Amino acid sequence: DGVQELLLSRIRDVPDYPKPGVVFKDITPLLADPKAFTALTDVLAEGCARHGATKVVGLEARGFILGAPVAVRAGLGFIPVRKAGKLPGATLSQAYELEYGSAEIEVHAEDLQTGDRVMVIDDVLATGGTAGAAVELIRRSGAEVAGIAVLMELGFLGGRARLEPALRGAPLESL
Ligand code: 5GP
Repeated sequence: DGVQELLLSRIRDVPDYPKPGVVFKDITPLLADPKAFTALTDVLAEGCARHGATKVVGLEARGFILGAPVAVRAGLGFIPVRKAGKLPGATLSQAYELEYGSAEIEVHAEDLQTGDRVMVIDDVLATGGTAGAAVELIRRSGAEVAGIAVLMELGFLGGRARLEPALRGAPLESL
């Protein structure tokens, strides 16, 4: 019904950003287009309902921009998963490997509990490192992963294959 075409037409390829040889997928044209942003929000919110999610987790930073309206549309609470050191309360944290070095993400411990079914939202799945760490974090909180939903998956980086074992059957949907 043309939604994928609309979304694709609003993603800009930026060559050599953030470093030479990388083509960055810039979603700001999509965010600036109310038709496209609304269509994306609707599709992601529908996924939350279909997979029985009870909470929406957004991954810093573009996962906040997409996840927050999705949570509102789906009638669910929004939980930010942030880079280390940004959340004021007691946190659970999870380290993961980057191409060079490592990173750490955190969530407020009180935000996720046993019995929650969490939909994880981000803009781009690249290597899968960030989403994989989020899955670990959610499971360690006692909550379940209802699924991971991203606007785009950079297939040539093999993120899906790398994530697959950690998903334990939870769906990974990219639009
Ligand atoms: P990964 O951990 O899968 O390698 O990287 C995914 C994270 O990096 C996501 O949070 C995503 O926002 C960001 N990211 C990586 N590549 C791109 C890109 O080309 N465009 C955008 N918008 N984000 C990217």
